[in-house]
Amino acid sequence: MRELIDKLAAEHDLTDEEWKQLIEGEYDRSLLYAKADEIRRQKYGTDVYIRGLIEISSYCRNDCLYCGIRRSNSHAQRYRLSKEQILECCQTGYELGFRTYVMQGGEDTFFTTEYVTELVSEIKKRYPDCSVTLSLGEREKADYQAWYDAGADRYLLRHETADRLHYEKLHPAELSYDHRIQCLYDLKEIGYQVGCGFMVESPCQTVENLIADMRFLRKFQPHMVGIGPFIPHHDTPFRDKPQGSLEKTLTMVALIRLTLPQALIPSTTALGTIHPQGRELGLKAGANVVMPNLSPVSVRKQYSLYDNKICTGDEAAECIACMKRRVASAGYQIVVDRGDWRGSS
Ligand code: SAH
Repeated sequence: MRELIDKLAAEHDLTDEEWKQLIEGEYDRSLLYAKADEIRRQKYGTDVYIRGLIEISSYCRNDCLYCGIRRSNSHAQRYRLSKEQILECCQTGYELGFRTYVMQGGEDTFFTTEYVTELVSEIKKRYPDCSVTLSLGEREKADYQAWYDAGADRYLLRHETADRLHYEKLHPAELSYDHRIQCLYDLKEIGYQVGCGFMVESPCQTVENLIADMRFLRKFQPHMVGIGPFIPHHDTPFRDKPQGSLEKTLTMVALIRLTLPQALIPSTTALGTIHPQGRELGLKAGANVVMPNLSPVSVRKQYSLYDNKICTGDEAAECIACMKRRVASAGYQIVVDRGDWRGSS
């Protein structure tokens, strides 16, 4: 497998058969992780960027079959942060060394074009040295443009799967694969640093689907790629589906690093949820970003996308202290930096 790993590192692409071997073949994964770590160190040294995650709303108009805050989950507890609460999270984050705020939420129609525009402007006015990332789902291109003009720098919108038929198994008929992909291209055209990504071992996922994901990444050339294991939520139709594995997720993290050497790749909370050292292992397999939670502790448990989510009880200060220790134990260090993409487009 060493030859294949070297080939991917040099050429950033493989044949279907070669992808298959690296994704699901039996071999010593430590070779793969070591190569991904080597490439990550060439581009980004041992720096780990932090993003302060602010979960601004658990209301959602969508009904994704995997997600705990889907609209038909009548047990989900719904909340929405006020502007003042969001700005307080930013202030706390700033004092703790965060220079990127990620505002994520369900697709909440309360957040009109103007509302988000004002919010972004206010954050950029108060913290001109910080980057603002939005993760609010699919919107009109005009919304994305207005928020970009107001100062938003980045947008995260996981494509979830690059295979149309698989997409249709994970989503209700009213959601369209084409529209999601169109949103990603719109965001890129506007000028955002764009993040896409997918769940690993989501229900019905095949190795061919994962190959399609890798090919999509090659083609789309995102700045950021967020992936994590699928984790069932007890109030969704996928409650009995198996959770994604640590090894498969780490394998995909490493393969993404070799395919897109400059990418910003988070070691996700979902990875930390399925294994106590999941995030440390993700960093060692090529990830270079962590996203500690800045949301008020009072609402943390209500942003429940999957079961057993970690870090729902800790104040932001405890979260960052814990994260600093974890990152150091893996051999890296958290830096006070916007952590922009270091590539050339
Ligand atoms: N509404 C926004 C934010 C989605 S939440 C949007 O549409 O982009 C962020 C990500 O959490 C999703 O893109 C999905 O990949 C992931 N997620 C949702 N449910 C999950 C589950 N059960 N297990 C693992 N990841 C999940």
